Amino acid sequence: MSAPTAGGRPAQQPAYLDGNALAGPLSDVFAVDLTTAATHCTGCGAEGPLAGLRLYGRAPGLVARCPRCDQVVLRLVRTPEDAWLDLRGTATLRIRVPAD
Ligand SMILES: [Zn+2]
Repeated sequence: MSAPTAGGRPAQQPAYLDGNALAGPLSDVFAVDLTTAATHCTGCGAEGPLAGLRLYGRAPGLVARCPRCDQVVLRLVRTPEDAWLDLRGTATLRIRVPAD
């Protein structure tokens, strides 16, 4: 049983994590840390770092939603041999790369 909060309701786990939790799973796919990459939501046009998305689920299926309109921006599913990355909710993903 959960400990009651000051308001008398039991404390609950948050429904989602912040997008920083994508760093580990995405590092299997990309050689750079994408949590600072800028995403552009196709639903509302919001732009912000990947770390600002709301992350739902646990591996192997992760769903990242826009914090403004709740649209699914990114899905990542891992199987033993493959990684499936669905970016349909992302208009653009701007990734900083070091200059040569
Ligand atoms: Zn949005």
